[in-house]
Amino acid sequence: MPTYQHLLRASGLARIDAQALFAHVSGHGRAWLIAHAQDKADPALVAAFKVLAARRLTGEPVAYLVGSREFYGREFAVNPAVLIPRPETELLIELALQRAPANARVVDLGTGSGCIPVTLKLERPDLAVSAVDVSVAALEVARSNAQQLAAEVRMLESDWFAALAGDTFELIVSNPPYIEQHDPHLAQGDLRFEPRGALTDEADGLAHIRRIVAGAAAHLVANGWLLFEHGFDQGEASRALLAKAGFLAVETWPDLAGLDRVTGGQWGGL
Ligand code: GLN
Repeated sequence: MPTYQHLLRASGLARIDAQALFAHVSGHGRAWLIAHAQDKADPALVAAFKVLAARRLTGEPVAYLVGSREFYGREFAVNPAVLIPRPETELLIELALQRAPANARVVDLGTGSGCIPVTLKLERPDLAVSAVDVSVAALEVARSNAQQLAAEVRMLESDWFAALAGDTFELIVSNPPYIEQHDPHLAQGDLRFEPRGALTDEADGLAHIRRIVAGAAAHLVANGWLLFEHGFDQGEASRALLAKAGFLAVETWPDLAGLDRVTGGQWGGL
């Protein structure tokens, strides 16, 4: 049997990926690995690690292989039915937390893993949080995350606003599928394994954003906020859509990489 150090080094994986997969199969983190680097590896661990390493080498995302990803300091279960939570989306959380009045009603459109509504509810227990997704498989993941993390979130199957007739909110948030259909990134890296319907609108990238902007007015109270994530090159188009629809205080905020990432506006109430 190889040593643990040899097992990980010979895997052909990036060190951080090898450590994550090893931690998943063994329950042992980096400190344990450092202490036991020269030990002969347990054959059962070697076998389990090699199965996941082989899958990782074909491109499967680490988050799907280990079944979870951290978002805003909490672990969310994920599977190939949902987009893997991204650090960029934490900007949407920050902006939402700043703008949500006490006891606000909030809805997340296209919730996927549920990382957005669950985080909002746990950070701000005063909020009344709802979440919708058109995918039943995604809602199952979102519901299970809400339950695991003890967050009370109302989850509904809905194509954007379809199941929300008559409901109004102080805040609407969304990380919709915004990648343009021919974007080469769809054929690269983790995105190849994520649900295509969570990534692209199969059009110019703005189709779902247009629907969300168009539908939001009927579901926002006066001065309520709509905030949504978008691609680095969609800030200007997003602001134009909001302004044209009658939103005020329209603004785009950059992510930590300095790229346009979230745009929002306040419903004028007309
Ligand atoms: N931010 C993701 C990416 O570009 C896309 C997520 C989305 O379409 N909402 O990898």
